[in-house]
Amino acid sequence: MSSQLRKRAEEAMAQKTLTSALGSFSEAYVVSRAKAYEGLDFEELRNSIADIKGKASQHLDVLAEQFKKNAEARGAKVFRTSSPEEVKKYILNLAREKGVYRIVKSKSMASEEIHLNYDLEAAGISVKETDLGEWIIQLAGQRPSHMVLPAIHMTREQVADLFSKEISERLTTDIPKLVKVARRELRKYFFEADMGISGANIAIAESGTIVLVTNEGNARLVTTLPKIHVVLVGLEKLIPGVQDAVPILKALPRSATGQLLTSYVSMISAPTPNTDGTQKELHIILMDNQRTAMAADPQFRNALQCIRCAACLNVCPVYRLVGGHVFGHVYTGGIGTILTSWFNLMQNAEDIQGLCITCGRCKTVCPGKVNIPELILEIRRRIVQKKGMPFIQKAAFAVIRNRKLFHSLLRAGYLAQKPLAKDGFIRHLPMFFSGLAEFRSLPTVAETPFRERIKKIKQPQGGEKVAFFAGCAIDFVYPHIGEAVVKVLNKAGLEVIFPEEQSCCGTPFRGSGDYDLAAEAAIENIKALLKDGVPYVVTACASCASALKLEFVHVLETEGKTEWIAQAKELAARTYDFSTFVKKLVDEKRLTLKEAKHLERITYHDSCHAKRFLNVYEEPRTLMRKAGYDIVESFESDMCCGMGGSYTVKQPEISSRILQRKLQNIEDTHADMVCMECPGCIMQIKGGLDKTGSKIRVKHTAEILADNLR
Ligand code: SF4
Ligand code: SF4
Repeated sequence: MSSQLRKRAEEAMAQKTLTSALGSFSEAYVVSRAKAYEGLDFEELRNSIADIKGKASQHLDVLAEQFKKNAEARGAKVFRTSSPEEVKKYILNLAREKGVYRIVKSKSMASEEIHLNYDLEAAGISVKETDLGEWIIQLAGQRPSHMVLPAIHMTREQVADLFSKEISERLTTDIPKLVKVARRELRKYFFEADMGISGANIAIAESGTIVLVTNEGNARLVTTLPKIHVVLVGLEKLIPGVQDAVPILKALPRSATGQLLTSYVSMISAPTPNTDGTQKELHIILMDNQRTAMAADPQFRNALQCIRCAACLNVCPVYRLVGGHVFGHVYTGGIGTILTSWFNLMQNAEDIQGLCITCGRCKTVCPGKVNIPELILEIRRRIVQKKGMPFIQKAAFAVIRNRKLFHSLLRAGYLAQKPLAKDGFIRHLPMFFSGLAEFRSLPTVAETPFRERIKKIKQPQGGEKVAFFAGCAIDFVYPHIGEAVVKVLNKAGLEVIFPEEQSCCGTPFRGSGDYDLAAEAAIENIKALLKDGVPYVVTACASCASALKLEFVHVLETEGKTEWIAQAKELAARTYDFSTFVKKLVDEKRLTLKEAKHLERITYHDSCHAKRFLNVYEEPRTLMRKAGYDIVESFESDMCCGMGGSYTVKQPEISSRILQRKLQNIEDTHADMVCMECPGCIMQIKGGLDKTGSKIRVKHTAEILADNLR
């Protein structure tokens, strides 16, 4: 991340009003969204939206032609262009031809995308935004910071100041009064306007209809009062038939604002008569601006399934800290980064893609099934392909890939850390390393790695075998977690083997965009883990489990290493995360837990990879309850802890702010222990709790269960 972006992010996070407004909004949003979806099958609904929009994106040309034909048959003029400049030229020529000097607009992200107001105003035309949020930011001379709530970053005091200046009268911060002022001021613009410009949420090809979903009623005035109505629609809004609009209309208000319905849903299929008996002019501009190129891209066509509800921004741990302006472009957040990389240029997304911690929270709420974290990683991959990896990272990865060197360096690290280590932590680091241990203590490197320690464990012989994939953190930092895993599995009569050729699972390489290295790591681990022919591969790291079960196949496909796909699938089928595997053993009565009562109070932190990528969250809770612990849920138990692999090193300011919130939520439970299943999260949370002097202990599920076996 560039120093300018870091500075912008730091400044945003320093604005208490911004972070507290976004924080409270995101908390309230989760509740209202859940309520709005009560009784509806969200998965079914979004499957149908993804299907409709996904198919439509593959037929944009046909749908655009059909739309044009049907809309023109009813009297509209339809102009299709790929160029934003052509859009502006069309509107400016129309304005000149018709003597237009005053334009009112309702909310349109497509017009923001091409900076339409700027060109219109430069041509001497007065342009007034009439959506309340858009008007506020127009008065402030800003860009929207959110797709649905463009002025979400502003306080009522700031709005009162803006309105006071506009009407030359000192106003208080009373919201109903401010709204009244806006209504009064905007009304005169509607009546004076020669042209209305709107966007569209949906464009229906079979009837040439545009659909507008709004809450304020301003769009109805914009589209009906002026004698000329211009609609600016991105091509991705096209769908085939009117029935295809139904699931979108169901999801949009629920996902955008947690409402069952918006106040207005307007469908415009033809120009309507003006009050003086003349006919309104209806001009519909179908704008491409890279959308068909996106549709032709096998990865990025997925982003055309977006219905612009902004749910992804509302649940994003990074967005709620830094807001939208930090992204520096019209579209904000994770989806904004993706759209910017196409609608502007890939290079415009180079910097901002680094804001995403790839926690996956957005993809679980997306009604269009846009896989935002995967597409952000794809942006990273393309950047690395084009420009290569930064030198320091390249050097670090070369060390990790060279196992001999890596192991020797860790050994040297163990010796070098001695003067700095106490009770298993490094709490301060000298000079330019000091930032690394500033907001959480660091764990020490273990004296003996797990790969050595397992050799000394006496295990049952002759029975079924399980291959253990340790991952770097358990192998070299937390070998006792590996020992706990062995103890649990041995109790079920299983012998745990440790294939020595296993290496890093490749998540750090993939997360940084280096798919070449990720594919090398995948192949190395496939060979190591399949060679003994054991039926199960178990890992106690949720990130490694995601890599083995989900990512190897994807990485190998992306890199064209198709000869390994069958084996990658075989490995995926054999791989289990620790909790799922132990739950299976308990269910099969191969393992019995103590089943005590009220041992201690545990709160469980859901790691991003376990909850959102592996869908594992019930299993560990069930096991700990069965062992006799009381589970006390923390607020936002599945919110990212801020670790995100190297994110915590690259974006320490954001990482530490996310962690602070996580620690507070854990403390608020008054639990005795916090438990989790990802060594990365353990590093972050344990280090954070150590820094604050907390009494809450941090354990891996395996450690807890190992102490409670019958
Ligand atoms: S990506 Fe999904 S959640 Fe985000 S705005 Fe688009 S549809 Fe909504
Ligand atoms: S993956 Fe996480 S950090 Fe990235 S955009 Fe989605 S919610 Fe935000």
